[in-house]
Amino acid sequence: MTSAQNGRPPDAGSGLLDRFGRLATDMRLSLTDKCNLRCTYCMPAEGLQWLTKQAVMSADEIIRIVRVGVQHLGIRELRLTGGEPLVRQDLIQIISKLRNNHPALPISMTTNGVGLAKKAAPLKAAGLTRVNVSLDSLHEETFSRLTRRPFLDHVLAGVDAAFDVGLGPVKLNAVLMRGINDAEAPTLLEWALERGYELRFIEQMPLDADHGWTRRDMITAVEIRDLLSRDFVLSPNAQSREGAPAERFDVRRRAVGTDHLREGKDVAAFGPTLGTVGIIASVTEPFCSDCRRTRITAEGKIMSCLFSREESDLLGTLRAGGSDEDIALQWQNAMWLKPRAHGMDHVGLDAPDFVQPERSMSAIGG
Ligand code: SAM
Ligand code: SF4
Repeated sequence: MTSAQNGRPPDAGSGLLDRFGRLATDMRLSLTDKCNLRCTYCMPAEGLQWLTKQAVMSADEIIRIVRVGVQHLGIRELRLTGGEPLVRQDLIQIISKLRNNHPALPISMTTNGVGLAKKAAPLKAAGLTRVNVSLDSLHEETFSRLTRRPFLDHVLAGVDAAFDVGLGPVKLNAVLMRGINDAEAPTLLEWALERGYELRFIEQMPLDADHGWTRRDMITAVEIRDLLSRDFVLSPNAQSREGAPAERFDVRRRAVGTDHLREGKDVAAFGPTLGTVGIIASVTEPFCSDCRRTRITAEGKIMSCLFSREESDLLGTLRAGGSDEDIALQWQNAMWLKPRAHGMDHVGLDAPDFVQPERSMSAIGG
């Protein structure tokens, strides 16, 4: 009988197991809470009260926490995030050290792409595996309205540079906002397919610092598929999802005169697959039952879920002289209490009584 089945916390060596039998092997680590954009669905226009340098994990502390995760707790994949990871001055050194310690570990980074054009080559040389770049619009005006900064050209140059130096597969993240960029969904997909980038649409979650999220304004996964189906035919990708948040679809072009064909049965009649698109439906089709993520905020707090209200101060333990075993045990105990779903067991984000967490996305590390 496993410890999940008999209801007691896991033993050393059993990894980051929770009460519901899920094992976290995918670590999301935030390098900073700071950012050079102000996306409306994430940050307020004036920014947030930034953490002090002393409060944020140093490079050595990050290296140690990752080492404990990999060597003691079965972490098999690392994603660096923020805030904006590229604003961290010692980013290249951090990645280099991580790569030295863990030659085979997939290390990816989620970035807004501002400044990526210059840093793509050194990031690749330091050992970064691949990038996810956020890109919500290809129109300068819409981009500036969404991010409150006029940096579209920088981001596009960054995406291309990442691809050119081999930081691929390059994935693009887009959040659709009603009446702002939702009509751009097919154009974004066309653009990504042409270049060989994998686009993923993310349902907007109630994690904005302005607390402006409403269920009614959110563009759902069903709407996203509808928006795309005017130009494309989507069919479920055969590869197993393996705990990934995105549901992937093969994309074919919808030719004129094929409206009568059924997408499920007659899919071959639509011509060759042009690539794939992902939809991350955290709100309307949550994937909590197969979640494999553990999160560490920039100030070294463990968050077992984006929506969890409990945080465990791992950095405090490390700074108080904790051993690797102390750190591993605290991490295991925090993950053991991971909520079944969205921080409110049995209830989804859709619930009318859902209460938005204190932390916004940039302060957690998305
Ligand atoms: N600054 C980097 C970036 O934007 O890619 C990394 C951090 S950002 C918090 C990580 C991802 O979270 C981005 O793709 C962003 O679009 C997404 N995100 C931020 N706020 C969100 C929200 N309220 N709902 C859904 N996704 C959100
Ligand atoms: Fe910055 Fe990323 Fe949040 Fe946009 S989504 S404000 S780029 S942290």
